[in-house]
Amino acid sequence: DAAAPGSVSLSGLTKSFGDFTAVRDLDLHVAPGEFLSMLGPSGSGKTTVLRIIAGFEEATSGTVRLSGVDVTRTPPHARDVNTVFQDYALFPHMTIAENVGYGLRVKGTSRSERVEQVAESLRRVRLDHVADRLPHQLSGGQRQRIALARALILRPQVLLLDEPLGALDKQLREQMQIELKQIQREVGITFVFVTHDQEEALTLSDRVAVFNNGRIEQVGTAREVYEEPQTEFVARFLGLSN
Ligand code: ADP
Repeated sequence: DAAAPGSVSLSGLTKSFGDFTAVRDLDLHVAPGEFLSMLGPSGSGKTTVLRIIAGFEEATSGTVRLSGVDVTRTPPHARDVNTVFQDYALFPHMTIAENVGYGLRVKGTSRSERVEQVAESLRRVRLDHVADRLPHQLSGGQRQRIALARALILRPQVLLLDEPLGALDKQLREQMQIELKQIQREVGITFVFVTHDQEEALTLSDRVAVFNNGRIEQVGTAREVYEEPQTEFVARFLGLSN
């Protein structure tokens, strides 16, 4: 139901940049606790939709609802979402513990409470032993787990992830996929995940939204989009056409 905590509802969403329309009249509903992937070729509008949900980009028309509340004109910091990017965006001169606790500090959480929550957060991503290090002393996979811990510490209802594993090599990527899925189950929040990698989308997600040219061609479970592609494009993109 559209008003449930953690739901994301987009209706009639359109985004134009000058004469170019990147997102066209798009509808999408993500259920609370769902892992939904936006899958599609480069330039199909996935990141633009994610940025509109986060509030970094303003929709030309249409509405965004989070937990049933219309946030179309709400600034990013006042939305109950957080974002993890491919490039981690950690502060280079802060220790790992300071990076993870940053959001709590901005919010005014007391120091003792912060220390406790940072420790718990680091344990969740199995990196409590790196608390005093600097980001450059960590591997790519570790940095991405820290970015995840930092995003989750504020307990958002919805986490937006933009190609979070895109910078990792294949082996690490596969390992991180498993961890990401485990963490999502543990914390039980809604994940909206952008990827151009179909294997990743189909492995991780409860449902996949297949993007093409600013539109969603099909939304369904991995099995549905694979076994019953509803358009030529979906069949071709998933490599089923001869
Ligand atoms: P995807 O994430 O699927 O690769 P994007 O949402 O990043 O696609 O981009 C969709 C289209 O919108 C692309 O053609 C891109 O060049 C264009 N676009 C995205 N942001 C801007 C912008 N700020 N100004 C102009 N065009 C943009």
